Amino acid sequence: MSTEPRFIADAMLGKLAKWLRIMGYDTLYFKGGDKRALIKKAREEDRIILTRDTRIISRENLPPNLFIQSDYPEEQLKEVSRNFNIFPTGKVLSLCSSCNVTIKPISKERVEGKVPDYIYTVHTKFSVCPRCRRIYWPGSHYKTMTARLESLADEGA
Ligand SMILES: [Zn+2]
Repeated sequence: MSTEPRFIADAMLGKLAKWLRIMGYDTLYFKGGDKRALIKKAREEDRIILTRDTRIISRENLPPNLFIQSDYPEEQLKEVSRNFNIFPTGKVLSLCSSCNVTIKPISKERVEGKVPDYIYTVHTKFSVCPRCRRIYWPGSHYKTMTARLESLADEGA
């Protein structure tokens, strides 16, 4: 069993949810407006609630939670990072940023024609999301993102 925190983000925090997944943290994005259902889910699945909704925070007997102050995903990520001591781990880019499921390695042959030619030529390692079939590779996007995440970690604590 992993002791890493798991999160549930409310409807206003979609981008934050993606960032947390990119960093390797299991994060459920709760799009519905039913606050009671969100809290129930958090309790059932042992997830920390991330919310911008003061009406959620004001409830009694709430599971662990964090009220997010900023409007900006990057700042929001810092807020989470500060409070729960999270940082980019070896699991960076191990989850699909859309589906929150673990991506699986896929052989190079099988991605031919599914990624841009220059990507296919340059890279040898690819992964695929078993749910949405999106293909991931350690490309420039990945580098930019890890650089930003690392600067975040430097600042932290
Ligand atoms: Zn996916």
